Amino acid sequence: MAWIALEGMRFHAKIGVHDAEQVLGSEFVIDLYVSVPPTAGVQDDLSKTINYETIYHLCKLEMSESRKLIEHALNGIVKRMKHQFQLQGMRIRVRKLNPPVGGPVAQAWVEEEFDFMKECPSCKKKFILYDQESAWARHPNLHPASREHLERRFGGCICDNCMVTYVGKI
Ligand SMILES: [Zn+2]
Repeated sequence: MAWIALEGMRFHAKIGVHDAEQVLGSEFVIDLYVSVPPTAGVQDDLSKTINYETIYHLCKLEMSESRKLIEHALNGIVKRMKHQFQLQGMRIRVRKLNPPVGGPVAQAWVEEEFDFMKECPSCKKKFILYDQESAWARHPNLHPASREHLERRFGGCICDNCMVTYVGKI
């Protein structure tokens, strides 16, 4: 496993519970780490890896929305990242600089780490599973009766390889 990181992404955003924060905004710094397969054998091809510019753009989009809590912004970024990329895991820290808490404080931050690698209940190999619903939804041709049978047998979504074995090519 390898990590790709964008550290110190800076944004001016209207996130906070005080009126001044909503009107004037304040400074935020985001550090984002993405776990990916080992870099050995990686081709020199941007389309086959995580594009740093896209990560920055996703964060910028999310930080342009005004809201009360940095936790909410963090969750929004995680959602966008999952939608855009197939990630083994990620860690993200959102920092608010000089938070208005009644005295000098350099920064307040919230950090969360996610492991999206789950063990396939059939072959026991690890695969990326964001959540059960989206996993089943990746197989639109799966007949509801087949899904019900597989869910009963395995208790959760199986990996793409096993899906092909049980229900044929998708
Ligand atoms: Zn499997």
